Amino acid sequence: CGLFAIFGHERAAELTFYGLHALQHRGQQGAGIVTSNGEQLSIHKGVGLVNSIFNEQNLATLKGTSAIGHVRYATEEQSGFENVQPLLFRSQISSMALAHNGEIVNDFALRSQLEAQGSILQTTSDTEIIAHLIKRGGYLALEEAIKQALGMVKGAYAFVLLTEDQLFVALDPYGLRPLSIGKVDDAYVVASETCAFDLVGAEYVREVKPGELIVIDKNGLNSTMFASPMQRALCSMEYVYFSRPDSDLNGINVHASRKLMGKQLAKEASIEADVVTGVPDSSISAAIGYAEESGIPYELGLIKNRYIGRTFIEPNQSSREEGVKMKLSPVRGIVNGKRVVMIDDSIVRGTTSMRIVRLLKEAGATEVHVRIASPPIKNPCFYGVDTTASEDLLASQYSIEEMAEKIGADSLAFLSVEGLENALVDEDSIETGICKACFTGRYPTEIYPREVNANGK
Ligand code: 5GP
Ligand code: SF4
Ligand code: MG
Repeated sequence: CGLFAIFGHERAAELTFYGLHALQHRGQQGAGIVTSNGEQLSIHKGVGLVNSIFNEQNLATLKGTSAIGHVRYATEEQSGFENVQPLLFRSQISSMALAHNGEIVNDFALRSQLEAQGSILQTTSDTEIIAHLIKRGGYLALEEAIKQALGMVKGAYAFVLLTEDQLFVALDPYGLRPLSIGKVDDAYVVASETCAFDLVGAEYVREVKPGELIVIDKNGLNSTMFASPMQRALCSMEYVYFSRPDSDLNGINVHASRKLMGKQLAKEASIEADVVTGVPDSSISAAIGYAEESGIPYELGLIKNRYIGRTFIEPNQSSREEGVKMKLSPVRGIVNGKRVVMIDDSIVRGTTSMRIVRLLKEAGATEVHVRIASPPIKNPCFYGVDTTASEDLLASQYSIEEMAEKIGADSLAFLSVEGLENALVDEDSIETGICKACFTGRYPTEIYPREVNANGK
């Protein structure tokens, strides 16, 4: 999912709309904006793309100088309007709207606890759990209630909360998801990725720190810690696949890091070939890096039809498979008679690679060598990236040789975990601190077994 927030700007709703548009790649199932004019909150949300949900008329109804917005990436069980964020809770004294990116790993326990204490939960979303935990601390000042609630929540969450006159921003103690602060005119903005700042003309200020709770109101920005920060574990798949190449995460540019992954991959798994091609759009940077390092020319061997969304995000297997075909075409004049190195950013189920190898061979490629710019994904993610159950992860079921055969490749190799880490060290040799759990099986937080979690998710 993607988050955007702004405090103290005349055009709060409009800039939030632009911000969400820049974050559209982070989720296409729904979007919403809540604004405040200092006295009351207004909301508009819907299912689908940002551009189709918002227009001049409904943006004009979103009055006020502060706003939060969300684009939704639904996991399989959670599509539907009632789960579109932000969630808005109105009350006589003070209303609040919340949105979050990530996933709570102890949601099942928290949900049972809340229900046992009389809370009625209307959605299956983790955001609502956080809201109820906050409301339960109602006798406390809101800031304290939020701290208490976040103290009970385990997992990954970048989180924004808007009341009539305050904006709260928090990041989980491991900083699993990205979240940055910027400034436009005199207003603070917050976004999952810095590409949203560029679109609204905001200047980057800094990252939200792991375990930090920020309060923004008429007195400015005030930072406190709700938990002791842990060694940062920013999701490495944000660099590999999820984020836009023009974003900087934790000070490292996404395109530059992908290029390094490609270079590293060329060092680790070289092969004789005539052309290097990448799967648009997310693998182009890595393919350029691979070509640069190997000396094999980079070519546009695959073209993407831009009028279709990201295939993986479609929540079921059959739409996913057709999606790949609708999305990509080989360039026959480029690959015909050639030995092709095909770079993709990752293999999850293997659907994409399998299809593309076939497309390239049908277009006349004599050999197709698949090189993946991330390590094999062998373990599920519990932190908000829908990389499915273990049984569906190709690399958890098969050896590399077996996978090569399954996808029809003449050879297959993945980037090593060390290679990935090397690509994510910046020039000043500051390690960002990344989560690698889907590759290594070592999760930064406590996790709770899926069987327990599956209920009600
Ligand atoms: P597969 O087709 O192997 O199931 O999924 C991997 C392909 O889907 C890659 O081409 C990757 O670019 C794309 N993809 C789309 N969404 C995601 C995601 O959320 N995670 C990962 N790892 N890959 C994704
Ligand atoms: Fe990202 Fe993988 Fe960690 Fe999930 S398990 S947060 S996808 S690195
Ligand atoms: Mg959960």
